[in-house]
Amino acid sequence: MYIDTHAHLYLQQYDEDIDDTIGQALQAQVTKIFLPNIDSSTISALNGLSDSYEMCYPMMGLHPCSVKENYQEELALAASWLDKRKYYGIGETGIDLHWDTTFKKEQIEAFETQISWAIDRELPIIIHSRKSLDLTIDIIASNKHDKLTGIFHCFNGSIDQCKRVLDCNFFMGLGGVITYKNAGLEDMIGYMPMSHMVLETDAPYLSPVPYRGKRNQSSYIPYIAEKISQVKGMDIADIRQDTTNNALNLFKIDD
Ligand SMILES: [Zn+2]
Repeated sequence: MYIDTHAHLYLQQYDEDIDDTIGQALQAQVTKIFLPNIDSSTISALNGLSDSYEMCYPMMGLHPCSVKENYQEELALAASWLDKRKYYGIGETGIDLHWDTTFKKEQIEAFETQISWAIDRELPIIIHSRKSLDLTIDIIASNKHDKLTGIFHCFNGSIDQCKRVLDCNFFMGLGGVITYKNAGLEDMIGYMPMSHMVLETDAPYLSPVPYRGKRNQSSYIPYIAEKISQVKGMDIADIRQDTTNNALNLFKIDD
């Protein structure tokens, strides 16, 4: 079986066909899906989907693109939910300097707050980083702790950045971007040890080839595994097995 470690299947893009979306994932052998939260507007849909499908595992946090003037209230709400029900990770959090740098300082503060939640609760943290990978790694490196681990989601760094992530004992999520022409990630993927790799879709965004530009869904995970197997010259069954074991260990799930 495969695990999709990052999908937003609770968004309105799936309102019409969520049963089919989940059914297609199962047909593609994707049997567990981890759902990162975005902000206060997505919590009830996130919890609802997780209640409806046992294979969906919710995570709680505040996305860096949702860090605005009211970020303290947003963080307080996320923290209150962490006390109310079981979540399997913190996130997604991190730093995004692509769309808007107005709240860079607040994004860093919100990220550090969520790092402390991850340490206190011994939960993996899911990191979003855009135009900020070195800064994000610096922050994780300076918060090093034996209980701190997680995933650099949609990792598209250099070999050097990959090495730095490994030094922090973090995993790297590979998704549809690696299938894009000119992504230029082959050397880094060739270098990345299987021990620290997990698969993800980031659905509904970033569909792999041949669905690039269309709505993404968890059933496309095998296209990502196929690309990794080509780059590494490994059997796709081994890619599946290794990435699934990594995700089960990281999220402390038994089967
Ligand atoms: Zn995401």
